[in-house]
Amino acid sequence: MRLDKFLSHTGFGSRKEVKELLKKKQVSVNGKLVKDGKVSIDENHDQICVADESVFYRKDVYLMLNKPQGVVSATHDAEHRTVIDLLSSDYHHFELFPVGRLDKDTTGFLLLTNDGELAHQLLSPKKKVPKLYRALVSGIMTSEDQALFKEGIDIGEPKICLPAELNILSIDQETQESLIELEIVEGKFHQVKRMVKAVGKEVKTLHRLSMGGLPLDPTLKVGQYRELTALEESQLL
Ligand code: URA
Repeated sequence: MRLDKFLSHTGFGSRKEVKELLKKKQVSVNGKLVKDGKVSIDENHDQICVADESVFYRKDVYLMLNKPQGVVSATHDAEHRTVIDLLSSDYHHFELFPVGRLDKDTTGFLLLTNDGELAHQLLSPKKKVPKLYRALVSGIMTSEDQALFKEGIDIGEPKICLPAELNILSIDQETQESLIELEIVEGKFHQVKRMVKAVGKEVKTLHRLSMGGLPLDPTLKVGQYRELTALEESQLL
């Protein structure tokens, strides 16, 4: 992007006003004084300063993170590492936040963004955005549980849960454990764990496989993240 355009877009006025600023030797790129607004800059990596203050280009950023266990889905936490602490310094000035929460011990798909409008839509109960989880459960999940989840189960909230799709992937009779996939369209606190508890079993491990129409990139190792493509952004809602 051209430097004068960048400065205009970041609130330093019209092209004419920006020209004045440059003429007054107020602008530097990577520590070097620049007077020509036509020079090309990389708005994501070059350090642009006006009167010795850094200027950041605010673009909407969408990151898909494969959340590890042991980090909290928050921007700040006095005790624990947060999902934001996992990001490289390239992303620090974007003021990213997690869209919704995964428990500290839950792994998998977490979207990080600075797009408040999209986050609001994804979290709105009206939108009924599907979230798919895989869980290892202590206890044998049954077709009765499937039917109960499909009807809408009571987890002690004022309203029963909306219908959820339970798929039993495998049962281990020896360990008395079940591997399940569960798709829910809400985001109540500890919802999956509470639904499973409501049918007398317990979630041992929980991993989110997808959100909206978007699956977690299987090449992302635990703790890794990457920006979404424009196509992926459009698949979220
Ligand atoms: N449901 C839970 O119980 N925990 C999560 O982290 C996400 C959904």
